[in-house]
Amino acid sequence: MSELESKAKELLYEPAYAGDKDAAVRQAAAEFGEGYKNFLNEGKTEREVAEYSARVLEEAGYRKFDDRKAYAAGDKIYLIHEGKAVLCATIGSRPMEDGFRLVIAHSDCPRLDLRPNPLYEAGHFSYLKTHYYGGVRKYQWVTMPLAIHGVFYRADGTTVAVRVGEDAGDPVFCITDLLPHLGQEQNERPLKDGIKGEELNVLIGSEAVDDEKIKEKVKLNTMLLLNEKYGITEKDFVRAEIEVVPAFKAQDVGFDRSMVGGYGHDDRVDGYAGLRAEIETKNPAYTTVCVLADKEEIGSEGVTGMNSAYTFDFLRQLCAGQKADVIRAFHNSFCLSADVTAAYDPTWASAFEPKNGTYAGRGVAIFKYTGSRGKSGASDASAEQVGRLTCMMDKADIAWQVGEMGRIDLGGGGTVAKYVAQQGIPVVDIGVPVISMHSPFEVIHKIDLYMAYRTFCTFFSEGL
Ligand code: MN
Ligand code: MN
Repeated sequence: MSELESKAKELLYEPAYAGDKDAAVRQAAAEFGEGYKNFLNEGKTEREVAEYSARVLEEAGYRKFDDRKAYAAGDKIYLIHEGKAVLCATIGSRPMEDGFRLVIAHSDCPRLDLRPNPLYEAGHFSYLKTHYYGGVRKYQWVTMPLAIHGVFYRADGTTVAVRVGEDAGDPVFCITDLLPHLGQEQNERPLKDGIKGEELNVLIGSEAVDDEKIKEKVKLNTMLLLNEKYGITEKDFVRAEIEVVPAFKAQDVGFDRSMVGGYGHDDRVDGYAGLRAEIETKNPAYTTVCVLADKEEIGSEGVTGMNSAYTFDFLRQLCAGQKADVIRAFHNSFCLSADVTAAYDPTWASAFEPKNGTYAGRGVAIFKYTGSRGKSGASDASAEQVGRLTCMMDKADIAWQVGEMGRIDLGGGGTVAKYVAQQGIPVVDIGVPVISMHSPFEVIHKIDLYMAYRTFCTFFSEGL
C-alpha cells in the first residue's frame, strides 16, 4: 500500500455493506429475522403487539408493574398502557438517579381504520367505509387481500376481538379498482388522487336475505353473520376499533433471502429489536426501559402516544420507589428514539441525496436530526450525544451508518425524539432503513435489523 493509499484509508470515511465480507454476520442476521417475521405476523395491530409482548415478557420472567412496590436490581417489570402501549424494564444496580437507558419505538402503523358508521350496501354488495390512519398513499391499498383486525365494545359492556383473513381457510376482503379498459378518466387524475379517500371501501359480502320486505337485504345478511359470530349489532361499530391491514404474511425477499418484506416494519422492526434486547438484558448497571408507543403515525397524540405522560409517569414511579430525585434521573438518562427511515432506492434515486442517504444493508442508521425543511420538528442531537453513541457502537463492532431521509426540499418526517427531549432527557434518533415505507409491503434488510438489535443490547448491557 502506498503512503497515500494508507492515508486515504486512515482519513477518509467510506461506509461499507456490513454483510459483504462477513458470512457469520449474514448467518446471524438470517437467524434473527426468523423470529421477527413471526412477530410481524402475530402483531398486525398495536393491540396485538401488546398481547404478544405481554406473553413473551411473562415467559421471560417479567412481572406486572405495581406502582406501590419498590424494586431491586435485576427485577424485570412490564406495563401495558390502555391495552396498546408496552413498557418494560430491568432494574439496574446503580441508583435511579444515575439515569435510565431508554429505547422507544412505536407499534402503530399506517392502515385503514373503519369509520364510526362503516357498513353499507350498494349494487348488491356490502361494504365497510374506511378512514386512513397515518401517511398512506391511497393508490397502494387497492386490489390486494386485506384482513380485518380489532375489537368491539358491546352494549353489555363486554368486548370481543376480531381477526379475520389471517388463518388458512379464512376469507379475505379487498378494495376494488377500475379495469384498464375503462380507466381513461381515472388515468388523467394526478397520482395522489388516483384513489381517493372516499373510494377506499372494503368489499365484504354479496349475499342477501330472502325477504322482500327488507330494504337492505345484503347489508342485513352481512349483519346477521357478524351478529352470529361476534354478538354485535350495527350500533357496536361506533364503539369499536377495527383496522384493515394487508392479509399477507411477512416473507423473505430475494433469491438470497437477505431481506424481509411485509406489513408494519415502520416501526415494528425497531420495536422487535428493542423488545428482544430488553428481554435479554440481565443485571444491567443502569435501569433499562423499552417502550413500544402508540399513535406515532398521527403525531403521537392521544393517551397512548408519546405526547402523553404515561412513559414519564412510569419513570417517575420507578424513581419514587427508590426515593430518587426525578430531575436528576432524567438529566442523567439517555434515550434511543428508535424509528425507521427511508432506505435509498435506486429506482427512485432522484428523491435521495446519495451522500446522505441511508442504505439497506449498511447497518442501523443514526440520525443527528430528522424533521422537514429547516429541521422543523427535529430534536437535533448534539455532537456529544452522537459521539457517545457511535463510539459505543464502534467499540462493539456494530455496523452503523448516518444520514438523512432524502432530498432536503422534498418533505421529511419527525419522530418521538422531541417528546423525550421535552422532559430533559438526551435523545438520539436511530433505526432501520425501509424500502417502500408506509406501503402495504415494506422491505427491510435483515442485517440492519440485526445491527439495531445488537445496538440496543450493547446500549442496555453496557450503558453509555
Ligand atoms: Mn415510524
Ligand atoms: Mn411512519
